[in-house]
Amino acid sequence: MKRYIFIRADATWKSATDSKQWIVVRHFMRPFKFIALIFVVTLYFGFKPLTNPVSITGHIRKNPKDTSAYIEHLFVTVKGDNKILANTMVDDKGNFSVTFTPTNEKSFGFFVNGVAIDTLLIGSVKSFSSDTPDLTFYIPALTKKNFFGQTICPKCDKADKVYKIRYGDGLPLSSMQISDNGDTTYSPIGNGRYNVGTCIVGVATYYCDRDRVRF
Ligand SMILES: [Zn+2]
Repeated sequence: MKRYIFIRADATWKSATDSKQWIVVRHFMRPFKFIALIFVVTLYFGFKPLTNPVSITGHIRKNPKDTSAYIEHLFVTVKGDNKILANTMVDDKGNFSVTFTPTNEKSFGFFVNGVAIDTLLIGSVKSFSSDTPDLTFYIPALTKKNFFGQTICPKCDKADKVYKIRYGDGLPLSSMQISDNGDTTYSPIGNGRYNVGTCIVGVATYYCDRDRVRF
């Protein structure tokens, strides 16, 4: 007589020498197998396009309005919903290529950092038009303004939490805020500006407090 091993509902391993018992188990397994098959087929045909890898050919160029930034030897980081998906290096000409597999991310943020550049948001993409998109970014990012002339954050597309960055020593670097429970916190945002505590002037000109990104 053959020996079979199967899992009981209480998840303990049992060996069965009784073939009748096995037939009962097999009978109950049949609908499960069918459901599992449907699930696998749905997964394969239904969600497959979302899990295709995306191979991006990227170009980083100087913003014509502000050409002070170095674009050589930068690092590019792609984040999906604030999770790092890929890292790569930019070549001497400001080009890079990066491949990653998106899952269900709502947006993809492109960040750069380098020798003279703090982490900087250079662009945000909601979805990719193809599996091999060709994207050009500018440093600092090209920004749009709303009807009131306020700069719009490239990530959240809103202007209400965007502050102009102020660099330099000798500035009031923070504003004191006292919360309801009496705790005192210091915010770098004061007088409508985001104050950076460094005398080295950075590339970023704006800061979005909603996404906590500089651009
Ligand atoms: Zn934002």
